[in-house]
Amino acid sequence: MYIVMIASECAPVAKVGGLGDVIFGLSRELAIRGNDVEIIIPKYDCMRYDHIYSLHETFSDLWVPWYDHSVHCSVFFGFVHGRKCYFIDPHFNKNYFNRGSFYGNEDDTERFAFFSRASLEFMLKADKRPDIIHCHDWQTGLVPPLLFDVYKNQGMSHSRVCYTIHNIKHQGVTGANVLRETGLHNVEHYMHYDRLRDNFDHSAINLMKAGIVYSNFVTTVSPKYAWEVQHTDQNFGLGDTIHTHSGKFGGVINGIDCDVWNPDTDNLIPHNYNVDTINLKHKNKDELRHRMLLRREFKPIVCYIGRLDHQKGVNLINHAIFYALNNGCQFVLLGSSPEPETGDYFWRLKNHLNDNPDCHLEIGYNEELAHLIYAGSDMMVIPSLFEPCGLTQMIAMKYGTVPIVRNTGGLSDTVFDADYANKPYDKRNGYVFSDFNNEGLESAMHRAIGMWHSYPHHFTEIAINGMKYDYSWNNPGKDYLNIYEHIREK
Ligand code: ADP
Repeated sequence: MYIVMIASECAPVAKVGGLGDVIFGLSRELAIRGNDVEIIIPKYDCMRYDHIYSLHETFSDLWVPWYDHSVHCSVFFGFVHGRKCYFIDPHFNKNYFNRGSFYGNEDDTERFAFFSRASLEFMLKADKRPDIIHCHDWQTGLVPPLLFDVYKNQGMSHSRVCYTIHNIKHQGVTGANVLRETGLHNVEHYMHYDRLRDNFDHSAINLMKAGIVYSNFVTTVSPKYAWEVQHTDQNFGLGDTIHTHSGKFGGVINGIDCDVWNPDTDNLIPHNYNVDTINLKHKNKDELRHRMLLRREFKPIVCYIGRLDHQKGVNLINHAIFYALNNGCQFVLLGSSPEPETGDYFWRLKNHLNDNPDCHLEIGYNEELAHLIYAGSDMMVIPSLFEPCGLTQMIAMKYGTVPIVRNTGGLSDTVFDADYANKPYDKRNGYVFSDFNNEGLESAMHRAIGMWHSYPHHFTEIAINGMKYDYSWNNPGKDYLNIYEHIREK
């Protein structure tokens, strides 16, 4: 099958979170299974160009219709760790993708609406006629209606669209002028509640809704999250839309890229290990302590890696730090915050705890350090308010680091409580709590820390159970191929 991924991220060149990992990992799995896979992303100035091999301009004369004129673009091609990637580079005084960051600009919806149109125009002009176009999140939500409205009639009638919701909280709600700019015909037609009009803001359109309504199949990134967005208030206003389209909606758990995340071969950690040599993990713990200036004591290291924001449960992360320190643990945090106030708070906390020999907070994004923390920690806390899939718990388990998670979304689908899970003992791989409050978190941390101190052998068994799970792209890859097969033109 010929598959084109259109997205705003692709790890490791353009990665803000799990979306980037998914684009790379899923594409790789689909290619290994014999499919022809290409990725299209914007050519950002802030990408990791050192991870792109043989980058060169492949298309110099792409004119993308935009409002009442056309914007000249170049398209570059390069290999990202073996994956075929196209990078769209508009020559436009608005400098859409030369902003020094991936997101966070006032005109984000306009930037990515442009990217959606440009991706399709590129495929049209470069004679690319994929069987499947797979789009992701609100940034590419306009691809399906544009395909349907504009490109289908220009010879792209064969392609079918799969659309994946990675986080329903961010929907790309914006003014209808964006539709006019993209050149969608008959804007009034699209400003209907059954189509793109936002379910709450009557004057706005909703780009994620566009993706849901006009795709041939819609997925989200875990079965539990798929259930939650249909049956609870976790859908941020898109419940009715998903309900209407429930016949083409399902959850597929993400995988992790086991070439990147494998303690046996990882060259970013000082000591490799696997299930049979898990006793070597403590050498990475020593190295982590050395790097983070933590003292050598007989204590478990609890860690947190990830965004510091409301979704991830910042108050509970904060509580976890103090609970761990007060209960005989050390704590290492690696995170950055998209919310300035939260970022400031954690900077102050870092300064406050600076001299504590049992704690290190690293504020910022550091891929290399993340590997060492996964390998050197004993436990990881993930107290999310909601979590569509979550990759950190799966990576942690792969490294024999026991996750302590809240019972929500993909965390529920992947972590099974050591004491209470409805699973055989050899499938129990972590600690789970339900109540989104300090007591809930403490109930699970207390059990995990107690097990580490009192029954180390059992604790190691739980870690090994996690390492043995197959969280690779193997199964999700098959699931996506089944979906593609189901919707493709026969
Ligand atoms: P998100 O909701 O942010 O997508 P996920 O758990 O799905 O969360 O994915 C997070 C990914 O980003 C993981 O690969 C994690 O290791 C990585 N990550 C998050 N924050 C950082 C950071 N500050 N430094 C390095 N890697 C990070």
